[in-house]
Amino acid sequence: MEMEAFVPEQAFEDFKKTVLENNPHANMERVRQAFDFAVAAHEGQKRKDGSPYVTHTIAAAAIAAEMGLDDESIIAALLHDVLEDTDTTYETVAAQFGEDVASIVDGVTKLTRVQYSTLEERQMENLRKMLMAMAKDIRVILIKLADRLHNMRTMQYQTPEKQLSKSRETMEIYAPIAHRLGVEKVKDELEDLALLYLDPVGYREITNTLEKRRLIMEQFLQEMEKTIEERMAKEGIKCKVYGRLKHLYSIYRKMYAQHLGVEEIFDLCAFRVIVDGLADCYNVLGIIHEMFRPVPGRFKDYISTPKPNNYQSLHTTVIGTEGIPFEVQIRTWEMHMTAEYGVAAHWKYKSGPSGHKEGDEEKFAWIRRLLESQQDSDAQGFYHDLKVDMFDDEVFVFTPNGDVKSLPAGATPIDFAYSIHSAVGNRMVGAKVNGRIVPISYPLQNGDIVSITTSNSSAGPSRDWLNIAKSGEARSKIKQWFKREKREENIQQGREMFEAEAKRIGLAMADITDPEMLPHILKRMAVQDMDDVYASIGYGGMTASHAVGRIRDEILRNRAPAKKTELEKMQERADRRQQQKPQKAVQGVLVEGLDNCLIKFSRCCTPVPGDPIIGFITRGLGVSIHRRDCVNYKRDADGGRWIKVTWADETSDYYTAEVHITSDERSGLVMDVATILNGLNARVRSLNARDTGKGTTVAAITLDVKNAEELQTIINKLQTIRGIREINRGGI
Ligand code: MN
Repeated sequence: MEMEAFVPEQAFEDFKKTVLENNPHANMERVRQAFDFAVAAHEGQKRKDGSPYVTHTIAAAAIAAEMGLDDESIIAALLHDVLEDTDTTYETVAAQFGEDVASIVDGVTKLTRVQYSTLEERQMENLRKMLMAMAKDIRVILIKLADRLHNMRTMQYQTPEKQLSKSRETMEIYAPIAHRLGVEKVKDELEDLALLYLDPVGYREITNTLEKRRLIMEQFLQEMEKTIEERMAKEGIKCKVYGRLKHLYSIYRKMYAQHLGVEEIFDLCAFRVIVDGLADCYNVLGIIHEMFRPVPGRFKDYISTPKPNNYQSLHTTVIGTEGIPFEVQIRTWEMHMTAEYGVAAHWKYKSGPSGHKEGDEEKFAWIRRLLESQQDSDAQGFYHDLKVDMFDDEVFVFTPNGDVKSLPAGATPIDFAYSIHSAVGNRMVGAKVNGRIVPISYPLQNGDIVSITTSNSSAGPSRDWLNIAKSGEARSKIKQWFKREKREENIQQGREMFEAEAKRIGLAMADITDPEMLPHILKRMAVQDMDDVYASIGYGGMTASHAVGRIRDEILRNRAPAKKTELEKMQERADRRQQQKPQKAVQGVLVEGLDNCLIKFSRCCTPVPGDPIIGFITRGLGVSIHRRDCVNYKRDADGGRWIKVTWADETSDYYTAEVHITSDERSGLVMDVATILNGLNARVRSLNARDTGKGTTVAAITLDVKNAEELQTIINKLQTIRGIREINRGGI
């Protein structure tokens, strides 16, 4: 094959033409920058056929342009290999072309790094889902499709092994994704190219046959186009008719599905009639059915019931003049764009002169609307899956062998380990993600390659793994392990929990172990002995209160009437204990009639234990505690929002109090105060002093004390300072 020399200037002119044909408002200045950037970055790199590497990214960008993608996408497509294959960094791309472009390029790079040639059939669907999930921005996928399409177009230069593996990937992953997104034009070409390598014999059989019939068929296509267009013109309908051969892979599939030879497949030709408005679709259909005899059962109205990927068209198959059947698809221009470009058609319509400016939110909203309006039958496969991904409740990761595992979103290496095998989870001592050690609580990300470090001397899972694991599978396997491996420990722990609960409700252990009672209890609990009950509480299979409750019921049921009174006493005791349960103190304060209410100590009078106190019910902030001698209480004692509060027997460690000192005006007051406080080991928070200018100095001390007694000791000692006139606590 002869290569034309690569001349950047010429290449850009061709490229520019393609871009402007599809997007006349494209910002060619930016596109040019990206073009030059790509040329420079890939300088010296060659493709397998010897051409400069950059010809590939330019071609991929041209395909992206043909798909109608926006400026950002075209620029990203030009740059799609710079992060992977050159020294260029994300930051450089972001600085020159913006975050949007950089993150698309980054997304494409991540998809490129995913290796899947070794995957088995059953994992393909997971992989397709993963790719969709990884590409937060749908443009990432569309550029990846453009990239793959160009690689398939130039696959002849690769080794036979590579041709096979890439073609398989294309057939099993990329073509279905293209179909899923409705990019039929790309899908058809990908399928045909892949078929060439996957079944060269079948491929040639079809192309040879088509070749033999080519003249006849081309003539047929042309005549029919003309016939239909003329008739429509006569009926006053403006339309465009395109005749074409069906794409190879669809013929191939039909041959296999119906066990036919190529010779036996007649409807190789298809026509599209594209009109301006919806009403014309049905008018054209009527006219076509007048012109040709329709094949019964072949009419489909995908306009009133669109396909899951948003495809809309009328389909009918008719018998032509020579007895040759052919299919006619009738649709509007808008439907046609959606049919050809799928999701990408969105940009073709929406991008204004300034390019595409909508946020991801809106893009996805569009897809979501599409999904939600398309809940019909064959939606189950494709779009259900897409939807799942969009709603982010799964994460897809790889084993070191390249198997794909699907786990709930937020899953950790623990979940991963147990999804492989219980033995892997139970012996796990650590985990690596993409070759780096991570904590076992690391939330796995799509595309992570996860490996688990195990050790035979591992002590087994830890109980807090139950809180870390996200999957039911992992949790139940961890519980299983504790149930089996840690019986002694479970019994021990379970017994403690059981006894505590029994004590709480006033059930004596002696009542349970009573030889007359025990058999009844064991039967009721369906266990061999009480250890079984304890073990099950210990590993978390049953709660202690559930077990104790059932045993108490059983004892009540089996008590002889005489003994019942004893049991009734027991219950009374329990009830009494419940009633007498001391009121719960908060920060050492009991509020009459209120348990667990919010408590705050007022700043005006800083009460400490030992001070007579009163509570004030604040609006929304619970109860604020004041001293009974606080000015604020005295001023408003009849206000109606005061509530009785008392100090509890047990108070908190420290309470903050405030002390105000007035002395003769003198320097050195602060020093004296500090010396005394220091000597008493007082816990001082602040100490401020100032001269009043009226012959006195005032000082304010904030300190933490245990109670009023300690505070009084401090005050007494401060009284001994020379020149002190008055010491009091604030708020009075
Ligand atoms: Mn590429």
